[in-house]
Parts: sequence; structure tokens; C-alpha cells
Amino acid sequence: MKKQWELCEKLSETHDLNEEELLSLLTGRTPETDEYLRERACEECLAHYGDQVFLRGLIEFTNFCKNDCLYCGIRKGNSSIKRYRLTEGEILSCGEYGYELGFRTFVLQGGEDPYFSDDRLCRIVSSLKSRFPECAVTLSVGERTKESYQKLFQAGADRYLLRHETADCAHYRRLHPPEMSFENRMECLRNLREIGFQTGCGFMVGSPFQTPEALVKDLRFLKAFQPHMVGIGPFLPHKDTPFRDFPKGSGELTVFLLSVIRLLLPRVLLPATTALATLLPEGRELGILHGANVVMPNLSPDDAKENYTLYDHKLSSGQEAAQGLIELKESLQKIGRTATGMRGDSLMDL
Ligand code: SAH
Repeated sequence: MKKQWELCEKLSETHDLNEEELLSLLTGRTPETDEYLRERACEECLAHYGDQVFLRGLIEFTNFCKNDCLYCGIRKGNSSIKRYRLTEGEILSCGEYGYELGFRTFVLQGGEDPYFSDDRLCRIVSSLKSRFPECAVTLSVGERTKESYQKLFQAGADRYLLRHETADCAHYRRLHPPEMSFENRMECLRNLREIGFQTGCGFMVGSPFQTPEALVKDLRFLKAFQPHMVGIGPFLPHKDTPFRDFPKGSGELTVFLLSVIRLLLPRVLLPATTALATLLPEGRELGILHGANVVMPNLSPDDAKENYTLYDHKLSSGQEAAQGLIELKESLQKIGRTATGMRGDSLMDL
């Protein structure tokens, strides 16, 4: 018990713990020490970013995917979903709508869809950037070659999200088909950062076969890689995947890990993810109250939202994004935070 408090204090003061210490921290939790870390994480976040919560407009522009990740509902092997792609015009309209609502960051996320060749994707990025020069464009389109990443960066993309999924190589193999590799994923992340993208990595909490030791590796990887952004959310099963019968990840563990990540990387941008909001009522607010400072409302057209089904019951309010935004702003206000559409670049490099 005493040891647990010491670890919490050490983490809050030094922003670092070694593997053995992290494992003790994860396995010796109590409600009191969880609450202590939550408070320290919020203080740390407020000290660097103030009370602002950054809004990102998410555009889910394709659910075609050439990969067969065992957890993911839009995997190639799922023949039950309706596949869709937004046209360049539709993507720009989403941008237009988001811009009017005040968003100054657009996140283009999709499956690994070969239709979006470098040329097509670069054109979309440059159109967005020339139409909305003061906005940041974030891409989340999976693994590509270094040359491809380079072209997308030159076309004007500012940021790139590529979750590492797990920092344990053997665990990675159990979540992915044989043609995908841990080494390539990590290589992609290194390339993205080297090219100059503000780079985000991250992982699912409670993915099948995840152990506390694997989570410790994730945390150590984050500390070593020093990403600009970290996305984590609970694993949620999807009925048409090989992992349909595995249990959901824990919401409590997810928010605890948000606090730990905030303390390990005080200046990181940390979203309260849709998966967390899907699992827990008020998941977004709970995430913010554990040290997160980003939310990513969905700007995709309704039929796209319906079919971008990474997991079952994915939260997608039937209401207008505009109405959802008003409610989101109000609920953040209630917990003492101010939602802002501003670019909100990461402070990691400063
Ligand atoms: N194709 C892109 C985007 C993938 S979807 C890429 O490879 O980066 C974005 C994230 O959703 C994934 O990185 C994964 O961590 C998460 N995800 C996928 N399936 C999920 C599930 N069943 N439960 C929770 N999160 C999931």
C-alpha cells in the first residue's frame, strides 16, 4: 500500500517510471491512488493547456480496407457491411460545414483503401489546405511507404495518427493477419515523425490477449517515442469479426491509463475517444476529467457514419453535428472546460 503511494508520487513528480514500477502501479491500484493520479493528471493538463479542450472535425471518408485486422469491423473479410467512399466534393463539403461550425482541424480517417492513391489523396489534402489555409489537416489512413508519407506531407498534411496497437510484438501477431508486421508499423511511425508530421500513436485497452506486461510495454514505448498525440480507447467487439466473443475492454482501466499517460507525457495531446464515449455514459467528460484534452466530433454524412463500424454500437448521434456540438460545449462547460475549435498544435516540441 505504501509502495503504491510512493509510485504515484514518483510518477507525478518525475514523469517517469521504469517497467517494474509501472507493472506494480498497474497491478496494485486502489480507488484512492486512482483518484490521486486523476487529480495530478488534471493539474498537469491545466498547467500546460489551460481549461481548453480542442475539437477536431472527424471525416470518415472510406470504409474500404485491404487489411484484415482481427478486431476491426471494416476488415476486408467482413462481407456484411455496405462499403462507401466519399468523393472529393463530399469531403470538401464536410470541411465547409465543419469550418462554419468553428473547426480548425480536420481529421481524415479511413480504411487502407488503395483507391486513394497518393495522387488522389494529395489532391484532397491540397484542396482542403487551399480552401482552409489556417486549418490543420490530420490523416489517419494506415501504413504507407515513406515516399507516400513524404508526398502527403508536401501536399500540406500537418499531422498523422497511426496507433501502434500494441508494443508487444507477440501480441501484435495475435491481433493481425500474418501479412501485417509489428516491425513495419513501428517503421511507419518512425518515418512519419522523421518527415515532420505531428505524429500520434496509441493502442486499444483490453484487446484480446493483452496482459499487464504488454500494457507496460505500451507505456514505455510512449515514453521513449515521445509522440505528439496518443489515442487510446477500450476494445469493443464487432459481431462480424473473429474477436466477436471477446469481452469489452474496461472503461475504468482506460481512464486510469489516460491519467498515467498524461503524467508520463505532460504536454501530449490526448483525446477522449469515441470508443470510450460508446462504452461509458459521459465517457468523453470522464476522459477529460482524467487528463484528456481533445474530442473529435464526427462531421461525416449520416450514411457514412452508419457504415464506418469499427465496433458494434459505435456512438453516432442521429442529430445534426451543429446540435451535438452545442450539447458537447455545454457538457464541457459543466466540468469547467472550454471547447475550442482552434488548431491546438501539440506542445511536445516546445
Ligand atoms: N486504417 C487506419 C485507421 C484505423 S481505425 C489505421 O490503420 O490507422 C482507427 C483505430 O480504431 C484503430 O487504430 C484501432 O485502434 C481502433 N479500432 C479498430 N477496431 C476496434 C475495435 N473493435 N474496438 C476498439 N477500437 C478499435
